[in-house]
Amino acid sequence: MDFKDKIRVIEDFPQPGVRFKDITTLLKDGPAFRAAIDRMAEKIREQQVDLIVGPEARGFVVGTPLAYALGVGFIPVRKAGKLPAETVETGYSLEYGKDRLAIHRDAIQAGQRILIVDDLLATGGTIQATLNLVNELGAEVVGAAFVIELTYLNGREKLPGDLDIFTLVQY
Ligand code: IMP
Repeated sequence: MDFKDKIRVIEDFPQPGVRFKDITTLLKDGPAFRAAIDRMAEKIREQQVDLIVGPEARGFVVGTPLAYALGVGFIPVRKAGKLPAETVETGYSLEYGKDRLAIHRDAIQAGQRILIVDDLLATGGTIQATLNLVNELGAEVVGAAFVIELTYLNGREKLPGDLDIFTLVQY
């Protein structure tokens, strides 16, 4: 299946010059959504991860079905101020803006093998921040998986060289 056919591109959203990749058109297509998750799960299975960590909000949409498929737990990373228990926080820059991310301090044990999942790799800022949070908890990030990679933003180069990165579709 060519997943690119299922992803809609919106010109000038959320600001002029940005070609926004909209995965809602993939998500509403049941067989395509399942095929995308199955393909990603197949790739990830060999990495033998203990947990999947995903940033809000679309990291939840992709990360939770992957965790279910692999039979591993899912840990949410949220915008600062949203998680109820004690958190660790970090600041980060986006393709368009700045924010703070947080994770529950007791979500991950030192030494666990972690896979980070999000819908899209752009500049890599979100994933770098998520990786910093996981590292601060003493766990090992072994890989990252995305539905989409915007290769022209070179996000991959910002991430550690030994990280196993899988992307389903590239632009
Ligand atoms: P990065 O931090 O620059 O890699 O940006 C990745 C984050 O921004 C992801 O969490 C995406 O959800 C969001 N994002 C950036 N560009 C797009 C886009 O074209 N479509 C959908 N999400 C995007």
